[in-house]
Amino acid sequence: MISIKSKREIELMKEAGRIVALAHKLVESMIKPGISTLEIDQAVEKLILDNGATPSFKGYGGFPATICASINEVVVHGIPKKSAILREGDIVAIDIGACYKGYHGDSAWSYPVGKISDADKKLLEVTEQSLYEGLKYAKPGNHLTDISHAIGEYASSFGYGVVEDFTGHGVGKHLHEDPAIPNFGEAGHGPILKPGMTIAIEPMINAGTKRVKVLTDNWTTITCDRKKSAHFEHSIVITEDGYEILTTL
Ligand code: MG
Ligand code: MG
Repeated sequence: MISIKSKREIELMKEAGRIVALAHKLVESMIKPGISTLEIDQAVEKLILDNGATPSFKGYGGFPATICASINEVVVHGIPKKSAILREGDIVAIDIGACYKGYHGDSAWSYPVGKISDADKKLLEVTEQSLYEGLKYAKPGNHLTDISHAIGEYASSFGYGVVEDFTGHGVGKHLHEDPAIPNFGEAGHGPILKPGMTIAIEPMINAGTKRVKVLTDNWTTITCDRKKSAHFEHSIVITEDGYEILTTL
């Protein structure tokens, strides 16, 4: 069932989203060659706690950290580690969730580390833009998969692999709620969007094959061809005439 949030619930989600956005600002300022993903994780955890929220991911299904830090061929769910040191030319997707007074915000962003190749720049640009292409269809009366279709068509028009094994999702009292929101497929299916629905849209786009596999730690998910992958995500609320991004300052 897709829940419709009240005005009060949406206000709490805006605060959760603001904290997530603050955390991304901090991440952006920290990312440089030589830093470990564990250092970023610890700083983000402190920021979330200092703002009166709790990390949504820590302990979720047993996930051991505050952020997911997915470097290069890692698609999602990379575990922060002291030994995972960012190097010049890497790209890294940082996924952050914060829970404020019982409501979650969820947003991922992919960052360049130092100077990156033109090909990697393109992958980041197209993946970010695919999120906005999907958001163009986030309005009352549209079908859910109108968003999915727009994301998938845009990203695949560049020859990229659109990940099918993971999806966007409803968000609110729970980190993951109904509905699942694929990043591919036909338009015109699924539920009709209504004001008060809160959803996280999150394209995961690969430079090569769409196929991914989960490593033996049961979290780290990599591309089968080891080519790079990017991930951008915002939590939004459907409004009377469109949408509003929740995970922003
Ligand atoms: Mg996320
Ligand atoms: Mg998410």
